[in-house]
Amino acid sequence: MNFNQTELSGYLDIFWQFSWPEWIIFSLIINIFLYLFSIGLYVFIEKTCHKSQLQEKNHPVTRSDFYLSLLTVLCNSLVLLIGAFLWKNGWIVLREAQSTFGIIVEVAALLLLMDLLMYFFHFAAHLPFIYKTLHGKHHEHVSTNFLSLFVLHPFETIGFGLMMLALLIGYDFSVVSISIYLLLNLIWGTIGHLNREFFPSSFDRFFVGTTRFHNQHHMDESKNFGFYTSIWDRVFGTFK
Ligand SMILES: [Zn+2]
Ligand SMILES: [Zn+2]
Repeated sequence: MNFNQTELSGYLDIFWQFSWPEWIIFSLIINIFLYLFSIGLYVFIEKTCHKSQLQEKNHPVTRSDFYLSLLTVLCNSLVLLIGAFLWKNGWIVLREAQSTFGIIVEVAALLLLMDLLMYFFHFAAHLPFIYKTLHGKHHEHVSTNFLSLFVLHPFETIGFGLMMLALLIGYDFSVVSISIYLLLNLIWGTIGHLNREFFPSSFDRFFVGTTRFHNQHHMDESKNFGFYTSIWDRVFGTFK
């Protein structure tokens, strides 16, 4: 962990020299951008995809959901700041160089490991006493809309972030792999809350966590706790 500035080169060096006010502004800008990207992607697919709807109506967009979604953006910004703090203090080591094959392996590892952690986290969120205070809000959306992904209790958002940071502490991933993983996570979450099946139906057979897969979870809360894949639901007998 004797990691210092002299070992860095290229773009990471710019981030290394950020002051904390700069980190705060950076994390807010990037998270607001990702929020708008998700909403834009959602609306774009809804407008251009002509497949039939999974549920008759979209959940109405409310003012309170909008405020909660902004709180989620703030929580994600906080997670990025915690990550920056851990990096600056040597707990997280980021690698800059990585082969294409290495990146593919790292992204796949992040997706599978986070899927497993999120399975347990999500399953626990459905235990009655936790569900009531934490996860129930997300499930007020029986059908979904472009904010559903961001309608989460702050503890859920930060919990997800801490699981991710724990993995980054445990293994030195490359920055590119982490960025690709986070982008895929956002796209997956956006697609998972569409009211139309985005993926070809054959994808179910390849254990992909499709839109229908997560939509089922919103209709039957005892099934489909996974996120990117249906692997863990199949393993633990909660697949529908
Ligand atoms: Zn749930
Ligand atoms: Zn959901």
